Amino acid sequence: MEPNHSPRTPAIILFGSPGSGKGTQSRLLRDCLQGPHISTGDMLRTHITAGDAIGQESERLIRSGRLVPDELVNQLVEERLQQPDTASGIILDGYPRTLNQAKVLLELLPRFAFVPGVVHLMVDYERIVARLSGRRQCPVCGTLYSLKTNPSQTPGICDKEGATLITREDDRESVIRERLGQYDSQTTPILDFFRHAHVPLVEVEGGDAAPGLIAGQICSSLRSAGLLEPVVGTVR
Ligand code: ADP
Repeated sequence: MEPNHSPRTPAIILFGSPGSGKGTQSRLLRDCLQGPHISTGDMLRTHITAGDAIGQESERLIRSGRLVPDELVNQLVEERLQQPDTASGIILDGYPRTLNQAKVLLELLPRFAFVPGVVHLMVDYERIVARLSGRRQCPVCGTLYSLKTNPSQTPGICDKEGATLITREDDRESVIRERLGQYDSQTTPILDFFRHAHVPLVEVEGGDAAPGLIAGQICSSLRSAGLLEPVVGTVR
């Protein structure tokens, strides 16, 4: 059975670079926005685990760091929007990733009575580089240390295993800068597209503030933008 959306069911589209705390925020936002966190990456991984046709098509592309075709993710999202648990709203994470996906999404949402809003978590890239490139990991137990905020007792040695700590390949500065650059070139045109389409856009400084405070700021901005009005008289 299709969900009975109120005419103003919020569809919050979350953007944030690697290291911006997007994962944490998408969990915290559930305090003010009921409804599922829809991550196309998670959906694709579920298909890969199931070994079905979608999983087989996606696995090779994901492993080689490429995007899955627009038609495939658009179809997955269209089906997901019609599930009953979306009745109070949704948080979209990792979608849209291309302009075509953004256009399809903006056509789809009103068809299912969703109202879009964009949340952009902004963090100073130099801070992200400093934080991620200061991370060290134990190759035996996986514990993460930070040179600045959470160092091991003996520099370079795991407190639990005594093993020599390593820098993960994806925490090397050049790799981080490359990923941030890719994120920027992918996301900037999509944010511009939403701006031109007059979709309400909430820009919040991520950074070093407590995650709960940042989430509170996002929720109050969404309320001010009229996206989180209490829903009255909805027939479910
Ligand atoms: P990451 O943030 O590490 O890229 P995700 O979980 O968001 O992780 O996505 C994992 C992979 O799944 C992506 O690298 C891409 O191959 C594929 N993917 C996820 N979402 C999309 C999308 N909207 N469009 C195309 N491919 C996607």
